[in-house]
Amino acid sequence: MTHNNSTAKSMPLYLFNTESRCKEELIPLEKNHVRMYTCGPTVYNFAHIGNFRTYVFEDLLRRTMKFMGFKVTQAMNLTDVDDKTIKGAIVNNVTLNEFTEPFKQAFFADLKVLNIEPVEFYPAATDYFKEMIELIHQLIEKKVAYKGGDGSIYYAINKFPRYGCLSHLNLDELQAGASTRVAADEYEKDNVSDFVLWKAYDPERDGKIFWESPFGPGRPGWHLECSAMAMTLLGPTLDIHVGGVDNMFPHHENEIAQSEACTGKQFAKIWMHSEHLVVDNKKMSKSLGNFYTLRDLLNKGFSGIQVRYLLLQTHYKTQLNFTFNGLEAVKGSLQRLQDFIHRLFEISNSVSSGLVESILEKALNSFTLSLSDDLNISAALATVFDLVREINGLADAGKVGKTEAEHVLALLKRFNEVLGVLSFELAIEAVPVDLEEALANRLEARQKKTGPLLILYGILSIAAAM
Ligand SMILES: [Zn+2]
Repeated sequence: MTHNNSTAKSMPLYLFNTESRCKEELIPLEKNHVRMYTCGPTVYNFAHIGNFRTYVFEDLLRRTMKFMGFKVTQAMNLTDVDDKTIKGAIVNNVTLNEFTEPFKQAFFADLKVLNIEPVEFYPAATDYFKEMIELIHQLIEKKVAYKGGDGSIYYAINKFPRYGCLSHLNLDELQAGASTRVAADEYEKDNVSDFVLWKAYDPERDGKIFWESPFGPGRPGWHLECSAMAMTLLGPTLDIHVGGVDNMFPHHENEIAQSEACTGKQFAKIWMHSEHLVVDNKKMSKSLGNFYTLRDLLNKGFSGIQVRYLLLQTHYKTQLNFTFNGLEAVKGSLQRLQDFIHRLFEISNSVSSGLVESILEKALNSFTLSLSDDLNISAALATVFDLVREINGLADAGKVGKTEAEHVLALLKRFNEVLGVLSFELAIEAVPVDLEEALANRLEARQKKTGPLLILYGILSIAAAM
């Protein structure tokens, strides 16, 4: 058999680096071990499908690296202190933790529904104040940071010549009309200016939410949080840093400035950004009534796997147009794959045409090659459907034997390590004939009392007990 790791491991993985604007081969600092940081959610509400597009892409990247033989250590932060979380706590008259905790839990529940693999670290910003304060100390010492008239500590971007390298800003041009300082966590490119590292406490704005520090009471700036957590958990230089395209400026630009001014080392070797998601070709917004959380879609009867497949199937650098027609079409694609899996489980003859193995080898090679080209998911999925078509053709002609069918299933399981959308549970493997009869009798008896869902559950629990 050829569907082992050998093909995957010998192939280089090319990823598009936002900073160099080129596809680059992934060569981790430590041999075969990728350290990756991904900006996580701000836990002030339920994440929406645009957020999940980014998280599903990051999951595809993670799974592809593992599929291709890399070890991955990944951190995804939870922003549980910033302008939005503080405002939410004040409006709801609860502590910051009471406000953010339910959204943290909801986020993890959503990840599970979307079959997104858990990563190694989920640091919460409020657990890293010591590290953030230390970073600010270093930046002040290096004369890159200074105290503003409002008591806050700011980063002087003109002290960092590389500022703008990621989003390819022309700093001279932008700064001409820019304000000198910005204290808000989020701002636009025309506000390019010194940004806040430590935000001085303002009782009117912050209620009772503040922390003591050597710079006076207040709280850290959002951008600083990621620098502190990334470098503490993964070291001064990351192999890959990922996020949504809207995080590129100012957030990632500021992360680079803070981290590199401190360490004098490159902060991230490869930067990757996923494009926006639009709904019916319009920007998703609450006022347009086209704003969806994952929960909204589940309430409409779609499954997490269907949503995952929809978010997965468009290349991450292409804008994704979400439509309900698209989601319906996904149902058909998934059904086709599940039907194929069922068919494979049912093949029991002992013939062996000798034609299957070469098809599998070709499919594995093509699937891996597609993903190794900056995660070309469309080509990878096309390979899967080609495989289905070819094997179905052979099976129609009675040319697929039981052992060969098992090999096809094994390859599909390998593909699913990356895709995470297939189920191999429903197909009941080799149920002995007498047991089949017993099951049928039992089902018939139950059918009189229960609905089809409970019957399906009955089949599964009997199968699981076997
Ligand atoms: Zn971040």
